[in-house]
Amino acid sequence: MNLLIHGGTIVTMRGNEIIRDGAIAIQDETIIDVGKAGQMLGKYASGYEKINAKGKVVIPGLINTHQHAAMSLLRGYADDLPLQEWLEKWIWPIEGLMTAKDIYVGSLLTAVESIMGGTTTVNTMYHYKPMENEAKAFAEAGIRGVVGHVCFSWRRDEDRRALEDLAKNWHNKAGGLIRVSVDPHAPYTVDPGYMKELYALRDEFNKKYGSERAPIIWHIHVAETFNEAEKIKKAFNVDVKGGIMEYLDSLSVLNEHVIAAHCVALTDKDMAIMKARGVKVSHNPISNLKLASGISPIPNMLERDITVSLGTDSPCSNNTADMFEVMKVAALLHKGVSGNPTVMSAQQVLKMATLDGARALCWENDIGSIEVGKKADLAIINFEKPHLCPLHNEFSHLVYAAKSADVETVIINGKIVMENRRLTTLNVEKVMKMVEKAKNRLLEKLQAQC
Ligand SMILES: [Zn+2]
Repeated sequence: MNLLIHGGTIVTMRGNEIIRDGAIAIQDETIIDVGKAGQMLGKYASGYEKINAKGKVVIPGLINTHQHAAMSLLRGYADDLPLQEWLEKWIWPIEGLMTAKDIYVGSLLTAVESIMGGTTTVNTMYHYKPMENEAKAFAEAGIRGVVGHVCFSWRRDEDRRALEDLAKNWHNKAGGLIRVSVDPHAPYTVDPGYMKELYALRDEFNKKYGSERAPIIWHIHVAETFNEAEKIKKAFNVDVKGGIMEYLDSLSVLNEHVIAAHCVALTDKDMAIMKARGVKVSHNPISNLKLASGISPIPNMLERDITVSLGTDSPCSNNTADMFEVMKVAALLHKGVSGNPTVMSAQQVLKMATLDGARALCWENDIGSIEVGKKADLAIINFEKPHLCPLHNEFSHLVYAAKSADVETVIINGKIVMENRRLTTLNVEKVMKMVEKAKNRLLEKLQAQC
């Protein structure tokens, strides 16, 4: 299908470019022209379905670089607890009861919620099951995603089988919508030997299923809290002398295909290593605040020119998949902490949620900005709202004033997946019913165990 979006303001994310009364021409899944509506309406008069975007702002779809999509089933299940207690006493026991079907249903909900909030790409780490899984849910919803399988020292054989199936069946599949990753959970749950093994496995899979343009990446939690060295010592009797990134570097597992979530407790040396190795960051300010994990030194990393992207983290540590909230909190948090209101401009924060998100997933050749040759992943936002009036600066409104509910139409890979807030790929009411049922089944199973 060919589309022409015309009459709106286009925030391309190519530098600070803004095209008022602009137009975007899309052929199949690709952007083929970007310019002024006046000229393009004539040029693409026939053979193009038209979307009138007058009064609206078009942005590249938001990119959420750290999720555990299936965990939407546990939204609001356990709150107001410290990370370790939250994981060990609450989350892991109920997660152990989740079936492949539950994982699929939870991921459908996250896909729906993401699309409705203008997010077009999600990087998710969870347990992969061959029959029903996050990749299947994302493909059905029509959302772009990097889907991983999370690995732990205690289940190497199972991990190996899951990763092989995931890479073989899903990398660069569903019309290029789905890519995959190898996901060691964290340095305190994956021992040094297994960490190296997983790094080598990513290389092996890349040779088989990946390419330079579409690599299989490595997604890991790093330095989420300040006691990670103690946890590594307790789990594996390994002494970590410097920072956690320094420790990972000593294992030779860092390169430009690594995306590290959180990065709260970093040393200066850690950051120098990240810059040298090209490690990318997913900053999850809302999750870090909710779990009181600490505050990541983001301005410091940006000064060093490290790629920093944004993520929500799971729907039970956030508790939504709303990237507009994440953008606003990210912008405000570092101003408050540094005492410097000039730290992280609105434009920079929007870049973290779009182009830098694409870079963090090694997908910047295809997504992250509105440019000829890139895939058409777009969110059209209705700016004719009291809280977006008057309009002085689009970047300011997008980060400080816009809400996910202002997103009206979403296009992913050239396909309209939401039109005037109605999803075209899934029945939202049906998905919510499936989720309630899955939640009830899980609670019954948990009670039967007690
Ligand atoms: Zn996480």
